Amino acid sequence: MINVLFSANEGWEEYGPALRIAFAKAGLDCDLRQEFPPDVVDYIVFTPNGPVTDLRPYTKTKAVLGLWAGVEAIVGNQTLTQPLCRMVDHGLTEGMVEWVTGHVLRHHLGMDAHIHGQDGVWRKGAPPLARERKVCVLGLGALGQACAAQLASLNFEVHGWARSLKSVAGVTCHAGEAGFDDALSGADMVVLLLPQTPATTDILNARTLGLLAPGAAVINPGRGPLIDDNALLAALDSGQIGHATLDVFRVEPLPAEHPFWAHPKVTVTPHIASETRAVTAAEVIGENIRRGEAGEPFLHLVDRDAGY
Ligand code: NAP
Repeated sequence: MINVLFSANEGWEEYGPALRIAFAKAGLDCDLRQEFPPDVVDYIVFTPNGPVTDLRPYTKTKAVLGLWAGVEAIVGNQTLTQPLCRMVDHGLTEGMVEWVTGHVLRHHLGMDAHIHGQDGVWRKGAPPLARERKVCVLGLGALGQACAAQLASLNFEVHGWARSLKSVAGVTCHAGEAGFDDALSGADMVVLLLPQTPATTDILNARTLGLLAPGAAVINPGRGPLIDDNALLAALDSGQIGHATLDVFRVEPLPAEHPFWAHPKVTVTPHIASETRAVTAAEVIGENIRRGEAGEPFLHLVDRDAGY
């Protein structure tokens, strides 16, 4: 019997049945519970806001299997010595592709002018074609690659940037510090899908916002600290940035008094760009437990030194 502890402070009603089905499909004989004596736990299904924060008593645990894509809230936990896997869930990826595509198209087509501008004035002029818009996707991991590929399929001129050089059909890929300015320069829109690490904090700042095309749109479904908020507000006020659509923030929920809420050029969405979906995520957890039991390498292992 494999003892699997579910340590998340929500989702048990959904994840319990989904995980049991996934374990059965994977041929795993698992006992899944929300409580166990720590020293009998083989695997922990984990979110950083769940009950387990000190992992030292989990002496037999073979892996901590995260339900979240971002790991910044657990990667620095010094009590964690077990392998840590993050979530790459195709349900979550699909949701992110839809959210990013929708918000890119909103800015590309200038939809707001027609939604808010019903003032009886007949304004001529069709939007440019997608092929005339440069979109930069910062981060070409599971989510960034899927979004970049979708935008490229719509004919946007897509540039992507990652630490290591990637190959994505229809996307001009750049890598490392040397490739950053080329990826971003002159972009009409930038989509941030980087993890939050010391190296990515404030990556959009006064200098780098200045590389974008005047009036560019910033779309951030990544993490709040990727953007220097004050630099963004200044760039919005100067007109260098035309609009910011922000799903993630340094402090969440975004405090009611934060200037982003009332800013006419900012759209706030409450960290809903996408989320882990129980049925598809349970399959990933099941596959990782199967791998752990078979002595095979885990999927989506986090590089603790890189921080993602
Ligand atoms: P991932 O697969 O780990 O991809 C991260 C990408 O960022 C990789 O391409 C990586 O480069 C690149 N990167 C990391 N550090 C870098 C650096 N210093 N310089 C250049 N590139 C760097 O992550 P993912 O699954 O795509 O998710 C991305 C982020 O989205 C998550 O970390 C999370 O914060 C966020 N997220 C948000 C929501 C939401 O609802 N808003 C939902 C899910 C996820 P390499 O490929 O070279 O390693």
